Amino acid sequence: MSSELNPRTKHYEFLGPPGAFLISIGIPAVTYALYFGCSEVTGGCPPQINGDHVVHALTDATWWKSLWDTQAATAYFAWYAFCVVAWAILPGDLVAGTKLRNGGRKKYKINAFSTFLLALGATTGYIMRYGPESFTFIYHKWVGLVTAAILMSLIQATYCYASSFKSGALLALGGNSGNILYDWYIGRELNPSIGSLELKSFNELRPGLILWVLINISMVCEQAVRRGGFRNVTDSMWLVLAFHSWYVADGLYNEPALFTTMDIVTDGFGFMLAVGDLVVVPFTYTVQSRYLAFHPVELGPFWTIGILAFKFVGYYIFRSSNGEKNDFRNGKNPKNLTYMETKRGTKLLTSGWWGWSRHPNYFGDWMMGISWCLPTGANTPITYYYALYFAILLIHRQLRDEEACQEKYGDDWKRYKKLVPYRIIPYIY
Ligand code: NDP
Repeated sequence: MSSELNPRTKHYEFLGPPGAFLISIGIPAVTYALYFGCSEVTGGCPPQINGDHVVHALTDATWWKSLWDTQAATAYFAWYAFCVVAWAILPGDLVAGTKLRNGGRKKYKINAFSTFLLALGATTGYIMRYGPESFTFIYHKWVGLVTAAILMSLIQATYCYASSFKSGALLALGGNSGNILYDWYIGRELNPSIGSLELKSFNELRPGLILWVLINISMVCEQAVRRGGFRNVTDSMWLVLAFHSWYVADGLYNEPALFTTMDIVTDGFGFMLAVGDLVVVPFTYTVQSRYLAFHPVELGPFWTIGILAFKFVGYYIFRSSNGEKNDFRNGKNPKNLTYMETKRGTKLLTSGWWGWSRHPNYFGDWMMGISWCLPTGANTPITYYYALYFAILLIHRQLRDEEACQEKYGDDWKRYKKLVPYRIIPYIY
């Protein structure tokens, strides 16, 4: 493929190769730290350990060996294989993605939601047949499962980087710097595929996102075993399960919406996305349910309703703002919203949700993220990790998106920013 179509990347993100190195080490480290920092094994959340304990563990070879668990790794790889087989055999429409730089379009098989239903059905049937104790495996094999998912991310990022040198590969505009570490991390090829299996969209939706719900179910089972059955599982645990399951089901059900997101349209598939999809999503977004498994919290009706209301407001903002933009980008404007013309020919909404801030959808999403942490009460800040992490992720993403829009729209973007001055939260940020 010509260098015109695959130009050299001249601009680094994430502080370039040193940043890529630190994040590649940092994400797995934080994932383990979140477990050891909030776990019965280390005596609580936060744990009853000091710096000496940490140094002792890190300098002890047996501790490092304990991160590996063959049974857990086998289970994890079997889970991944299940997702691939389900993708291959479950029926689904073929939907074309957005137009690529080379004029082509990728075709995606839409069956993430049916894969989810199959996994849920099989899990529920298994638990009904064998009881809650049969599905606490994930709670007890946590560290081994995390290690297996990190290994899977490393394998995939390395495979995708190596295979991006085949002739005809369409590279991500940001992933062709020539620096091995950076390109491996950020993702060199735009749509690495094995046959018709496009790895980026597959990983984004199936093995991590569905596992997130299965992990929560395992945490419910662990609490049920400890408290004498499902009917004694706390309201807070059910709330977390319901919130997360809803978010995942919604994302999977609206699978085609993925194909217009920045991850799919712009980014390559490297370690950054692989570890995000396979490790961060299932193993850190579940810190609340894992905490509640060993530290049950009874909310009562007042707090339950309050948290539910907060969540619904967030969901409403998230869904209706995304809906307004999707409609508009598909040539529909049912609410007669005002917009501005750009020299590029694309229009930008200037009223409705998109008149309040330049990313109202991120605001709604963040509110939902906070509501996921609230059921754990005020006993520990660690379960609020997700709200903080998500705020950082969304702010960083907003900066990246606005940089891209500035490049796309030039002076028109400056004009748009004057019309809509707030970035995410009206009157605040
Ligand atoms: P957006 O859906 O906000 O899309 C940004 C793009 O929208 C811009 O690049 C621009 O593209 C277009 N746009 C910007 N302003 C306007 C306007 N005024 N009128 C019309 N179009 C406009 O970003 P993402 O793809 O990042 O996010 C999609 C969803 O995914 C969000 O709801 C977000 O909250 C969620 N998300 C969830 C994450 C998670 O981990 N849970 C992580 C990241 C995102 P163009 O003009 O070229 O069409």
